[in-house]
Amino acid sequence: MIAEEIHKITSQLPDGVRLVAVSKYHPVEAILEAYAAGQRLFGESHAQELQQKHAALADIEWHFIGHLQTNKVKYIAPYVSLIHAVDSPRLLAEINRQALRAQRTIPCLLQLHVAEEETKFGFTPDEASAYLDSGEWQQLTGVRIAGVMAMATNTDDTTRIRADFHRARSFFEQAQAHYFTPDTFNELSMGMSDDWHIAVDEGSTLIRIGTQIFGHRDYTV
Ligand SMILES: *Cc1c(COP(=O)(O)O)cnc(C)c1O
Repeated sequence: MIAEEIHKITSQLPDGVRLVAVSKYHPVEAILEAYAAGQRLFGESHAQELQQKHAALADIEWHFIGHLQTNKVKYIAPYVSLIHAVDSPRLLAEINRQALRAQRTIPCLLQLHVAEEETKFGFTPDEASAYLDSGEWQQLTGVRIAGVMAMATNTDDTTRIRADFHRARSFFEQAQAHYFTPDTFNELSMGMSDDWHIAVDEGSTLIRIGTQIFGHRDYTV
């Protein structure tokens, strides 16, 4: 039951932690069921799918949570509330360009690569520090760097998961102290269906939950 799962999760969240209901690959009807249960914040990870759902539904705060290709930014820039997984200076520059076209400032999170897996996505903590040191981002008036997003290693080893989230949190706190202020840089997006309890323990402010709420995804949708 979608409503039941949403209530189960939100009733366990401390103040200041928000649930992003990840509705990717699930139909509008599933989103409406979550909406009826009071959920207003949803996450999608495919630009065209988000564009269609945004057109079909009103009064929803949409977050883009997945890997975003630069040529897709234009589809979501007019309305997206937060882009979670900014993984390169080039992508941030394109978000800035499209935000200015839409006369907006788009909040963005830097995706930090802390997991054990090899992946091409995300800044390592060193790369992210170097980028913030460069000061380049201060020219980008169409974006606001609002925090950090991270995914833990895909493992049953909870010690490992906790260590990954802990590194992301340390980076987040250092960046907040060195480059930003707590009123503008205040989101730490981490935690999915299998690891969100640990993420909340480690200071997450946004958990991104799909499977636990909507069930397994049907990739043919
Ligand atoms: C799909 C997705 C989620 C949700 O994962 P579940 O395991 O279904 O909760 C969270 N974050 C990102 C970036 C995703 O792509």
